[in-house]
Amino acid sequence: MDFDLTPEEEAFRAEVVAFLDENLPVKDMRAWTRKVREKRWVGFSWPKEVGGGGGTLMQQAILKAEMAKRRAPALGTCFMGLAWVGPGLIEYGTAEQKQRFIPDILDSKVQWCTGYSEPDVGSDLAALQCRGERDGDHYVVNGQKIWTSLAPFADWMILLVRTAPMEGGNKHAGITCLLVHMKSEGIEVRPIENMAGGRMFAEVFFTNVRVPVDQRLGAEGEGWAVTVSALANERSSISEVEALLRRLDELKNLARATRKHGRPVLEDPAVRRRIAHFETVIEGMRLNGLRFLTKQLKGEPLTSETSVNKLHRATLEVAMADFALTLQGPAAAYTKGAEPAIESGKWQQSSLSWPDTVIGGGTPNIQKNIIAERILGLPKD
Ligand SMILES: Cc1cc2nc3c(=O)[nH]c(=O)nc-3n(C[C@H](O)[C@H](O)[C@H](O)COP(=O)(O)OP(=O)(O)OC[C@H]3O[C@@H](n4cnc5c(N)ncnc54)[C@H](O)[C@@H]3O)c2cc1C
Repeated sequence: MDFDLTPEEEAFRAEVVAFLDENLPVKDMRAWTRKVREKRWVGFSWPKEVGGGGGTLMQQAILKAEMAKRRAPALGTCFMGLAWVGPGLIEYGTAEQKQRFIPDILDSKVQWCTGYSEPDVGSDLAALQCRGERDGDHYVVNGQKIWTSLAPFADWMILLVRTAPMEGGNKHAGITCLLVHMKSEGIEVRPIENMAGGRMFAEVFFTNVRVPVDQRLGAEGEGWAVTVSALANERSSISEVEALLRRLDELKNLARATRKHGRPVLEDPAVRRRIAHFETVIEGMRLNGLRFLTKQLKGEPLTSETSVNKLHRATLEVAMADFALTLQGPAAAYTKGAEPAIESGKWQQSSLSWPDTVIGGGTPNIQKNIIAERILGLPKD
């Protein structure tokens, strides 16, 4: 592959760098959100007709890499809206739905959450049981979701329900995707506290919740395809690699500042070996990311191969946080809020939040299954 940027791409990179020089660090989040929206960088790769930036894949990769390098805040605050609800609407939404939902996502006026997992249904998502029964021009929803991130604050949920029973083992049939307002009558949100003390996710209960049929995304029974396509809005993971490299720098700084027998532990060969291992994995991810980008630039769809980087990222973030705690020694026991906590307890927070990166969005075992079966072609049993 060609690692050099074309003159046009280089010009775009210079524009991004100049904007970041002028606007970072951000003091006023609202002003930042307004400015990046004016530049059409929110929903940058979405078509211009729906209010997006119409940016190319390469421009998008440049924008994300430069932003991650400089620790710029996110482009827009509606994370799930930008990550998969918007792309789902662009592909499957009616003209009316696009007009109704997309502007508020781009303008950071709403928060979306994702109601997929259920108490006994996570990895095996297609086995979901939450029911949606047609009643005139409404669906009546009954059932429960769990681990719904941001549900305590969200305005809308992208929800998967079963509108028809599983037929002959085909679990994917009969699933329908609905867009549900979180203040609808019959919805109860019970926040769940995680180990790090956050209350970002929740159980969500539905009792006879009436959802208008015009809030169905895609056809009835087509919810699985809608979800797969929206989630497949994969990126090449280039911005994640930049973020991991920054994290690695912080780890090196910690090893420089931590002393053992009067010398920085960064001089200890065992510590250096471990850090070199992290760096090697990140470099592998970076090269893999470029491979994915090349494939996308050639117009080829990304499929299972992105599981490799997902798996690395999930394990690496936690491994680096845990290694930082090892370096801290007994002081690692001080967590966020305790005065002696090193670096305000950020490594502890990162370590305690491991389910976010390890489980959220698909567990390592599932990624390994995908790699084994679909990439390596190993038998299922
Ligand atoms: C921080 C966080 C945020 C989340 N946010 C959301 C959200 O916003 N919306 C949402 O819908 N869900 C969300 N989830 C749920 C998440 O998607 C599920 O927890 C995840 O898919 C795993 O499903 P499960 O919890 O049912 O575990 P299970 O699927 O029961 O898995 C339990 C264990 O069995 C292993 N396992 C399961 N099947 C296999 C298999 N076939 N082969 C090998 N091993 C297997 C798993 O790897 C795991 O170790 C979130 C979870 C977390 C932790």
